[in-house]
Amino acid sequence: MKYISTRGQAEALDFEGVTLTGLARDGGLYVPESLPQFSGDDIRSMRGKSYADVAFQVMQPFVAGSVSDVDLKAMLDKTYGTAFRHPATAPLVQLGTNDWLLELFHGPTLAFKDFALQLLGRFFDHFTAKRGQRLTIVGATSGDTGSAAIEGCRGRDHVNIFMLHPKGLVSDVQRRQMTTVLDANVVNIAVEGTFDDCQALVKSCFNDLAFRDEMGLTAVNSINWARVMAQIVYYFTSAVSLGAPDRTVSYSVPTGNFGDIFAGYLAKGMGLPIETLAIATNSNDILARTLETGRYATAEAVATLSPSMDIQVSSNFERLLFDLAGREGAHVRDYMGQFQENAGFDLRADHLAKLRASFVADRVDNAATSKAMREYYDATGYVADPHTAIGLEVARRKLGKGSTPAITLATAHPVKFGAAVEDACGLTPNLPAHMADLFDREERFEILPNDIQSLQDRVRRGAVA
Ligand SMILES: *Cc1c(COP(=O)(O)O)cnc(C)c1O
Repeated sequence: MKYISTRGQAEALDFEGVTLTGLARDGGLYVPESLPQFSGDDIRSMRGKSYADVAFQVMQPFVAGSVSDVDLKAMLDKTYGTAFRHPATAPLVQLGTNDWLLELFHGPTLAFKDFALQLLGRFFDHFTAKRGQRLTIVGATSGDTGSAAIEGCRGRDHVNIFMLHPKGLVSDVQRRQMTTVLDANVVNIAVEGTFDDCQALVKSCFNDLAFRDEMGLTAVNSINWARVMAQIVYYFTSAVSLGAPDRTVSYSVPTGNFGDIFAGYLAKGMGLPIETLAIATNSNDILARTLETGRYATAEAVATLSPSMDIQVSSNFERLLFDLAGREGAHVRDYMGQFQENAGFDLRADHLAKLRASFVADRVDNAATSKAMREYYDATGYVADPHTAIGLEVARRKLGKGSTPAITLATAHPVKFGAAVEDACGLTPNLPAHMADLFDREERFEILPNDIQSLQDRVRRGAVA
């Protein structure tokens, strides 16, 4: 499989190349040249198979030419057979006649990002060992990505990971999930600044092409194609469990950077019978506004009960834009150029029509999020985290009319957002047994000023301080 850039001016790469590169050198994002197609019989053959076996069927065409079938199978068996603490890996829970939750939080850091990052760490190891190279990962996190990336990369021989978080601005559970990992190849950096400052520092590292090449920098945020690819799998396993391909399903997806729901859009493009894909946002509603008005424009980010979705620029939207614009890199360059200059652009009418044909969207503010958490708890006894509650609320508003099952992605375990759960439901979720001692573990992190030179100097010194 070949991958091409959404801006049409970077060289095409194979799966190995895009995994190690992250962002394309023309500033675009990599997408597969074409989507593999699954027939009804292909999809039917997934019935009764383990998560790892379906993952093999779904991913094999995407990695063909870069990873052998034997190696892929071994990596998937290890990832999905051992790192997740539920025998079904991604279990479905029924909340109503046609209402389902897909629990994606049984991995090591209790959020859906483990599905991709546990595997990405293995791909990094596989390719760097083969090339005899080292990789340096520099990332920024407002919470869930950092811990999932660190868990995926800890102890790997050829990978150093530097993870930036805004000092004092992530929850105690989220910080400790990162800073109590003491492997020598992991460096946690608390930046004296905000999450946006952290992201800007990372961006500056990547835009410094000399530094990028010198250090072998790569990305672990969802601009990395391998992350999106890994997330396609649970759309297949869940739809098949509920009767696909002989029955249609719909999804509601708590959305920030547009990676998770974009994986659902790809699953549909590969032949999975998905009726509706609902984008569920909090008050940071750039995507909901775009569907309503046809204008993609940033606004001030506000802090909400669902911090992992407090994002005003949805990076992966560029991948969709490429499709909406007939896969013409020139259109995407034009849109993104306007975005750079004016912080927004208007979609062409035919592009907007395609967007509206593929998605519905709605926003849920803090009050409605708490209310949804409370109501589902009262009605079913189910404790949803605030991100999941936003998905449930949008499913209630936009899906679930008629007999099509509505599946909401449960993206995090409620314990990660204990304060919001306590306020809404009046109970304190417990840490799972494997993390019960999280608050007793030793922490290690360094503090750096919000300054690119200090960061680059630190990264150059390597992982061991
Ligand atoms: C990252 C995250 C999201 C948003 O996912 P995107 O792929 O960025 O749209 C939603 N919920 C939780 C709990 C997350 O960690």
